[in-house]
Amino acid sequence: MKYDVIVLGAGMVGVSAALALQARGRSVALIDRRPAAEETSYGNAGLIQREGVVPYAFPRAWKTILKSALNQTTQSHLHWTALPRIAPAIYQYWRYGTPERVEATTHAAAPLVERSLTEHEALTEAAGASALVRRTGYLKVFRDEALLAAELALDEGSRKRWGITAEAKTESELRAIEPHLTGQLAGGLLMTQPWSVSSPGALGKAYAELFVKRGGAFLTADASLLQSSPDCWTIPRVDGHISAPNVVVALGPWSDALLRRIGVRLPFFVKRGYHMHYRQLGNAIPTRPIVDGDNGYLLSPMHGGIRLTTGAEFTRREAPATPVQLGKVEPLARALFPLGDRAEIAPWLGARPCLPDMLPMVGAVPGFSGLWIDSGHHHLGFTLGPVTGRLLAEIMTGEAPFTDPRPYRVDRF
Ligand SMILES: Cc1cc2nc3c(=O)[nH]c(=O)nc-3n(C[C@H](O)[C@H](O)[C@H](O)COP(=O)(O)OP(=O)(O)OC[C@H]3O[C@@H](n4cnc5c(N)ncnc54)[C@H](O)[C@@H]3O)c2cc1C
Repeated sequence: MKYDVIVLGAGMVGVSAALALQARGRSVALIDRRPAAEETSYGNAGLIQREGVVPYAFPRAWKTILKSALNQTTQSHLHWTALPRIAPAIYQYWRYGTPERVEATTHAAAPLVERSLTEHEALTEAAGASALVRRTGYLKVFRDEALLAAELALDEGSRKRWGITAEAKTESELRAIEPHLTGQLAGGLLMTQPWSVSSPGALGKAYAELFVKRGGAFLTADASLLQSSPDCWTIPRVDGHISAPNVVVALGPWSDALLRRIGVRLPFFVKRGYHMHYRQLGNAIPTRPIVDGDNGYLLSPMHGGIRLTTGAEFTRREAPATPVQLGKVEPLARALFPLGDRAEIAPWLGARPCLPDMLPMVGAVPGFSGLWIDSGHHHLGFTLGPVTGRLLAEIMTGEAPFTDPRPYRVDRF
């Protein structure tokens, strides 16, 4: 079976790239070893983060670094035994944490983030999936006065600059929005622009169904079998090889493994994260996602229950699950919002695919004819999949790209 393009990976990023290429007249084979959106694009917090312009940079204050290194914070967890493997990429991540470099990343991220709602809107409507989307923003709540003050000060500066709208809320205003919030609160913010979804996996699947409905081929295969010959990339399968002159690597946290095998070494690393669903207690259900600004976890009403997602775990992608952070934040979450029993036996574990400058990688791999990457979307892959899919398709088909693609090029490190 011959196609114009093979897209490897049917998460939010790969499905969106496949749709964008298809919309430009390319015949596309979308490949995954599983059904669509059952990995990272299933387990995330489901935010479409129009406000997510400023990256999660490596902390610069030594006190914060020390607390993180000693695992004295709920926001992150470091596995020291993994350091020999992950240190080179983490060192680069640290180097990209200077104020000047964070500023450069923010500038480069803005054109992508600004388009995130528009691109999702077009796809949700076409896929008949608008009912999965809530346009209600999210709440960021604080118990700590000083942390709240720091967050509000940010509002004065960077948010206004990047066209991000947020409304400061007093404790009583927060309770008017979420009457079930418990304990004393200092106040918070309503981030008004972001959307959230009631099932990230269902949205990814709806986009994949749209791709198939429009004539795309969604095929089960193992991407690690990818072979190259002059002007052709092939995935062998028992019931017929799949080949194309172009292949897009959109394997999320697994992109690195395939690329290394074919001789492309890039500073990918992962920030792992966990989720757990909780049963509703009485009639207590949040009306929108709630971020605990003091402790760095999120609660969101989802199809499977109230989903709690954790911050970042620094270790090898394939290391065994160690849901220490979930154990730490669950009591804090129960003190913030009434939660029933755990709805699952084991927590879900996933990995945010990251690059040191916290920008995605979109474009051609120099030195490899017809090899393209759309990956490394860190904390924002669910938000940015449709945007970078569009950008990649524009580059691949010779259309004028909607923004300068150079900040996301593959050879920038
Ligand atoms: C806890 C947590 C919360 C998050 N919250 C948010 C959020 O609120 N908003 C947001 O924008 N982002 C969020 N993210 C980040 C976001 O989920 C990711 O950036 C995004 O899902 C990455 O999408 P992807 O398509 O690149 O990867 P994936 O969704 O992981 O897709 C990769 C695909 O590749 C396939 N694959 C891998 N290896 C092979 C192989 N050998 N052969 C065939 N197929 C293969 C997998 O089966 C998978 O389907 C969160 C992440 C985590 C972990």
